[in-house]
Amino acid sequence: MTTLSAPQISIIAPLYNETESFPHLVTRLSAVMEASPLAIEIVLIDDGSRDNTAMLMQQLALIDGRYQCVFLSRNYGHQTALTAGIAVARGSEALFIIDGDLQDPPELLGEFYEKMQEGYDVVYAVRKKRKESWFKRTAYSTFYRLIRSISYVDMPLDSGDFSLISRRVADVLNQMPEESRFIRGMRSWIGFRQIGVEYERDARVAGEPKYSFKMLRNLAYNGIFNFSEYPVKAVTRLGMITLGIAFIYLIQTLVKKFFFGDVPQGFTATLFIIVIFNGVQLIALGMIGEYVLRIFFQTKGRPLYVVREVIREQQRQPIRGASTLEPSPTNSPS
Ligand code: UDP
Ligand code: MG
Repeated sequence: MTTLSAPQISIIAPLYNETESFPHLVTRLSAVMEASPLAIEIVLIDDGSRDNTAMLMQQLALIDGRYQCVFLSRNYGHQTALTAGIAVARGSEALFIIDGDLQDPPELLGEFYEKMQEGYDVVYAVRKKRKESWFKRTAYSTFYRLIRSISYVDMPLDSGDFSLISRRVADVLNQMPEESRFIRGMRSWIGFRQIGVEYERDARVAGEPKYSFKMLRNLAYNGIFNFSEYPVKAVTRLGMITLGIAFIYLIQTLVKKFFFGDVPQGFTATLFIIVIFNGVQLIALGMIGEYVLRIFFQTKGRPLYVVREVIREQQRQPIRGASTLEPSPTNSPS
């Protein structure tokens, strides 16, 4: 039985139905801990898995005290699971955030840690190559470029959540009560000195991706609407341009009518314009709706997640009611 007193580093991995990759994950993480001179704890978060993941985690936590396991009450999604992990992690120096499917090699901890010693608070991974389908690679690449061009925070290209963040950055994250989280954006917003390290993103070690198309779209929306006011501004600009065109058209029509006695034709053109601008208006309303929705969810002030159980150093800590973990991620808007 191995236990750990004061971890310097926490490695955080959220898991949702990861039975197939679980044994690989544990082997690789245990090897990293054994090879490293640092005191490391592992924080695994079960995001309401429906397979054997939770059971495997329970067994592991009971025999190996270096593994801290958090079980959420249901599936909340990757970003929320990560939030729960960051709240529980006790690493006094830094938190290393990885995916549970080993697409982010945990062996890079040493390299990231060395970089942090040069005075950085965030060392984030930049994907040099992705071993994923052409469609997914293109979609990601387009998204990162779009968000970089419209966001009011300076978000690095091609970097996800895979990063080493300092204790003080984690403390700030824990204090950010925002709903519909986009952690890589929040991390950029926090500031301090941040640096990217290139790596090759591996293919998932086993099993199927757990992010559905809908979840990826929601993530992209959170990135865009939580970190940019551009969509609303663009709508206003579009409105101005349309108004300008309409005004010019009105003058032209009046001139034709009064000076040349020419009554304008063009029923089809009118219909066409009406249909187009109805579409534009609906999109514009939808965009504004995205912001309103976010206000709606945020004002409810619900906790971001509910914890079912925490197994920390073999001590089961059942947490009752709709509470979050200590240290609390400050879900009240204070
Ligand atoms: N994940 C999660 N909750 C979810 C979906 C995914 O905790 O609702 C975890 C998943 O188990 C994995 C990580 O988030 O460890 C990344 O998910 P996935 O590999 O499916 O995403 P992709 O790499 O395809 O973007
Ligand atoms: Mg993956």
